[in-house]
Amino acid sequence: MVQGSFYLLRRKCGNPRCRCARGELHASWVITRSEAGKHRIYPVPDEARAWLRQLTAEYRRYQRARAVLVKRHQKMLALVDGLAELRLRPWPENHPPPMADLEIIEHHPQRVMEAFRRGEFDQIEIIGEADEKEFFELCFREKMLQVLAESMPTERKKIEVPL
Ligand SMILES: [Zn+2]
Repeated sequence: MVQGSFYLLRRKCGNPRCRCARGELHASWVITRSEAGKHRIYPVPDEARAWLRQLTAEYRRYQRARAVLVKRHQKMLALVDGLAELRLRPWPENHPPPMADLEIIEHHPQRVMEAFRRGEFDQIEIIGEADEKEFFELCFREKMLQVLAESMPTERKKIEVPL
């Protein structure tokens, strides 16, 4: 696939005596795309027109499919978060004042290990993976997949846009 929009550009060349000045615009096939924030226009050579038309269409289909995926994942996350919310319990229940000691949770294994060796603290609690595993086990126990399947959007038909 090729990035960019494929279309017919019609324009005036600027010569006041040219036929384009009377409305017969010059037409040429181009591919436009944004590169590092700049709008670029590339002329399409005649011999590559069919090929590039196809490849840019392919890229557009990919982008549409990707947008659907992003939407689905957002929905999935919302469901998972909702499920987690339901399982969340207030603790401690009588809200005693929080501990005065500052607790820092860092996800920089190397930095944490180095600090540990320097003796900056004396205990490491491994959190993360075990919690995730437990969480996903919970998701399966709660039959989350069925819940997701029920609210999943149905597969859309592919629509070809004429060029
Ligand atoms: Zn002209």
